[in-house]
Amino acid sequence: MPTKHYQAVVIGGGVVGASILYHLARNGWKNVGLIERAELTAGSTWHAAAGFHAQNKDSNIAGLQAYTIKLYNEIEKESGQSVGLKKTGGYSLAGNYSHTHTLTPSLISYSHQVQKRDLTA
Ligand SMILES: Cc1cc2nc3c(=O)[nH]c(=O)nc-3n(C[C@H](O)[C@H](O)[C@H](O)COP(=O)(O)OP(=O)(O)OC[C@H]3O[C@@H](n4cnc5c(N)ncnc54)[C@H](O)[C@@H]3O)c2cc1C
Repeated sequence: MPTKHYQAVVIGGGVVGASILYHLARNGWKNVGLIERAELTAGSTWHAAAGFHAQNKDSNIAGLQAYTIKLYNEIEKESGQSVGLKKTGGYSLAGNYSHTHTLTPSLISYSHQVQKRDLTA
């Protein structure tokens, strides 16, 4: 319900703003609001091409991505509604040997099956 005073107001209803609002509420913040100038997900979020993985050179970002992937399952349980996510799987190809070191830890952190194949042979 609209009110004059909020504990926090999030500006922008993309995936980041929605996630901040969700986590504030989950952590007990009761009087929080979100302001969106257009409509929810009208920004970059609408354009996202469904690349959904936990691979990043920065282990903090990879951890955050892995957390997010698990969070969708929790949200389905909490809400009793499907979020419409279909995990189709995919391939990650390393262009050189050092790139395999970047890929492997993040793949393992998200329980992917890792198979190393040398395609140059
Ligand atoms: C073409 C494309 C493909 C992509 N593909 C992927 C992908 O496959 N996988 C992936 O993980 N990421 C992908 N991304 C990146 C991802 O979409 C963005 O990182 C993410 O959506 C950013 O979310 P956001 O909430 O920060 O921004 P946004 O989704 O842009 O949300 C910002 C919101 O704030 C609102 N807003 C702005 N200013 C104000 C204001 N003053 N008052 C009120 N509201 C305001 C806007 O209307 C908008 O709704 C892709 C991006 C693009 C453009």
